[in-house]
Amino acid sequence: MGIPYYVPSGNECLLFETAFRRQLPLLIKGPTGCGKTRFVLHMAAKLGRPLFTVACHDDLTAADLTGRFLIKGGETVWVDGPLTRAIREGGICYLDEVVEARKDVTVVLHPLTDDRRMMPLERTGEILRAPDEFMLVVSYNPGYQNILKSLKPSTRQRFIAISFDFPPPETELEIIATETGLERDKCRVLVNLATQLRILKDVDLEENISTRLLIYCAILMMEGLDPYQAAQAALIEPLSDEADVQQGLLELVRATW
Ligand code: ADP
Repeated sequence: MGIPYYVPSGNECLLFETAFRRQLPLLIKGPTGCGKTRFVLHMAAKLGRPLFTVACHDDLTAADLTGRFLIKGGETVWVDGPLTRAIREGGICYLDEVVEARKDVTVVLHPLTDDRRMMPLERTGEILRAPDEFMLVVSYNPGYQNILKSLKPSTRQRFIAISFDFPPPETELEIIATETGLERDKCRVLVNLATQLRILKDVDLEENISTRLLIYCAILMMEGLDPYQAAQAALIEPLSDEADVQQGLLELVRATW
C-alpha cells in the first residue's frame, strides 16, 4: 500500500517526525474536514508504524481504549483496546476529537504523556511501558463553543501542539483536483466560493465550509450533476438548516458561478 496523499501547508510534517523521534505527544487543533486525519494517516505510513484511530464520543470510556474482559465461548478473556494495542505494537494511537471522551480517559493519558510513558492496566495487573516507536496523537476542534468540553490546561500542557486550518487557496485547488479529477477551472470556482464563505462574517454558521465538503461537491459535479444541484447537496444543506441562511448561501453560489 502506498502512502496516503497529503499536501502540507507548513512545517507540520517535520514537527510530526521530530515529535515521533523524540517521543513527544502531539495535539492537532483545527476545524473539521481540514485534513487532520489524512495528515496522521500520511505520517503513520511514512514512518512505517501501524495506526490505531479512535473517533471519540461522549460515551467513550477509558476501558474502550485500554481493553476489557469479554466472555468468549464460555471463557473470560482479556481483549486489548486500541490504545493498549498501539503500545504493545509500537504504533501510533490517534484519538480524534479527544475532548468528547469521558473524563476518566485523561487519567489514562497522563502517565503516558510524561516521561514515564507507561500505562497501568489495573484489570490485568500489568504495567505497560511504551516502546520508543509508540506515539500518542490527539485532535480537537477549538471552534465548538463549549467551555465544558475544552481540554483542561493540565492535559493540554502535556502535548506539543499544531494548529491546522483550511489549506491556502492554491493548495486546496490542488487537493480537490487530485482527489476528484475535476477540471481545474471548476475547482477554482469551488475554492473561490469557499474563500468568500470563510470570510463572510454575517452568515450564521456553526462550522465553516470544509475541504471535505468541497471535495464532495466536486465528486457530484464529476458524476454529472449541475453545479447548483451539487452545491445544494454538498455545500448548502450540510452547512445549515435555517432557510434564511440557506438562501444567503445560495445567493453567494449564484454570484460566484
Ligand atoms: P479532519 O480529520 O480534519 O476532519 P480529513 O483529514 O478527514 O479532515 O480531511 C477531509 C478530506 O479532505 C480528506 O479525506 C482529503 O480528501 C482532503 N484533504 C484535506 N486536506 C488535505 C491535504 N492537505 N492533502 C490531501 N488531502 C486533504
